[in-house]
Amino acid sequence: MSFIFDSHAHYDADAFDEDRDAVLAGLPAQGVCAVIQCATDPESIKKSLAMAEQYPYIRVAVGIHPEFVSAATSDWLDAVRQAATHPAVCAIGEIGLDYYWEENAPREVQLDWCRRQIELAQELSLPVILHDREAHEDTLNLIREYRPQGVVHCFSGSAEMARQITDLGMYIGLGGATTFKNARKPVEVAESLPLDRLLLETDAPYMAPVPCRGHRCDSAMIAHTAARIAEIRGEDTDALLQQTRQNANTLFGLDF
Ligand SMILES: [Zn+2]
Repeated sequence: MSFIFDSHAHYDADAFDEDRDAVLAGLPAQGVCAVIQCATDPESIKKSLAMAEQYPYIRVAVGIHPEFVSAATSDWLDAVRQAATHPAVCAIGEIGLDYYWEENAPREVQLDWCRRQIELAQELSLPVILHDREAHEDTLNLIREYRPQGVVHCFSGSAEMARQITDLGMYIGLGGATTFKNARKPVEVAESLPLDRLLLETDAPYMAPVPCRGHRCDSAMIAHTAARIAEIRGEDTDALLQQTRQNANTLFGLDF
């Protein structure tokens, strides 16, 4: 039974340089049916598309991550647009706002890149994969303004904010942080979220769930996240994995 749909991973990260092929080739045997590989800049887009050409269960989101827009030149948007025509591309991402790191581009620059990429997604009828770190208010305002299809990944806001986002038609992505011992908000979100709005994700190689915390994360570890969320909700883990797989298929227009 292969029900693990990882809606957010970064297998182009350096952490996989030593054994990327072994890790990717081993995922299906561990129950992984699909992975959305999220690109972060033009170089990452190239690597991501090459991975999708090699592994049939990988689909790609193309975009410029907020941590990379400080280095971005205007032709990067053309690179995203060009890449979006590849048959493996099913979303524009990872895009969004990150006000946590001081070295990131100024907020106006991040907002400008986010807007232009949401507009591109809407022009191409693709969903967006949004990153929101310490930028809840601006993220919610962008969603209200554009009403995009998509997901707020690694969601770190309140249950109330999650409700506002799902009321606007978007999905919420939950991952390893839900399993952390000090987790409060993600647990409240996991408890109250309508099941048809939930996507599971890793953000691999980051955010490994308990009991793998501190190790390099890969998509098979979603089994732990799913078990924890099912426990929080009082539901069956397999049923949760099946429903979240279906949610991801619906959002990204896929059939895994
Ligand atoms: Zn990410």
